[in-house]
Amino acid sequence: IRKIGVFTSGGDSPGMNAAIRSVVRTCAYLKVECIGIYRGYQGMIEGDFKPMGARSVNNIINKGGTILKSARCQEFRTKEGRQKAYDNLIAAGIDAFVVIGGDGSFTGAMIFNQEFDFPVIGIPGTIDNDIFGTTFTLGFDTALNTVVEAIDKIRDTASSHNRLFFVEVMGRDVGHIALNAGVGAGAEEILIPEENLGRERLLESLKRSKESGKSSSIVIVAEGDKTGKNIFELKDYVEDNFPDYDVRVSVLGHMQRGGSPSCYDRVLASRMGVKAVESLLEGKTNLMVGIQDNEIILTPINKAIKGHTKIDKELIRVSDIMSI
Ligand code: ADP
Repeated sequence: IRKIGVFTSGGDSPGMNAAIRSVVRTCAYLKVECIGIYRGYQGMIEGDFKPMGARSVNNIINKGGTILKSARCQEFRTKEGRQKAYDNLIAAGIDAFVVIGGDGSFTGAMIFNQEFDFPVIGIPGTIDNDIFGTTFTLGFDTALNTVVEAIDKIRDTASSHNRLFFVEVMGRDVGHIALNAGVGAGAEEILIPEENLGRERLLESLKRSKESGKSSSIVIVAEGDKTGKNIFELKDYVEDNFPDYDVRVSVLGHMQRGGSPSCYDRVLASRMGVKAVESLLEGKTNLMVGIQDNEIILTPINKAIKGHTKIDKELIRVSDIMSI
């Protein structure tokens, strides 16, 4: 392998730049060429490539987003689109790639690998932490810190006005952000898709905490939670049944995806980038880099896609105890 392509694809996350930097510098260190591919699979199809040297990734380790840009690309889902991408890679002399992205990006890479026998390695970049084969995805830790910081601020205003706040955080299918940030921010209740205890129980719990002397409360709701039809409907339900509280809703939204990556994410990205390049040079392919028990490991990419992450039951128990 003499020339490795690197790109970011799908939803962006903090730490992607640190991963790009790591891949580029590891290539320079091991004396293989590195090519940046802009806008994920879209740029691959359009031949939007740029050679990257050790100095082209200066001062990006601390930047959120991705300097290579990200995109969603319908054309790559077609055989013709992937053929164009392959032709461009071959024309540019690229003989392997590192894809930094989520589930969808890995699925594309796996299909591409099967069709053209092209070496691919994935680095999990998503704030949702919903990828099997790694305890942490890039961006998750940063997103948790962002959410906790936001909730701390909401708590100040909630306690000044005896309000109940429903705070919606990202997580359409999984509650990892909600659960971890909820414990970290001291939320009363955490509503996640993995566990639907019903709205009556929520009311009871809020009543209990009011009776026990709490004057304000924060309830964290993951986007994908099904306790209510949505967070606003849930607010109406609680207000109708529990007139003592002034209920407010705050939807944190895309701020959760941005910001300077935490030290943890920068270190993780640096370690994953090294492993990705070294693995390709060892002739490995169709794998995803992950971290488990603080060791950088490899998982077959199809397992990473198909496997499901489990919610931390022990952390749910801890959160229940803390909301006494
Ligand atoms: P993420 O990587 O964050 O999960 P997406 O699901 O949007 O984001 O996937 C990113 C891109 O990966 C898609 O826009 C598409 O180009 C490619 N992709 C996803 N699924 C497939 C598939 N089944 N076949 C080919 N390409 C795919």
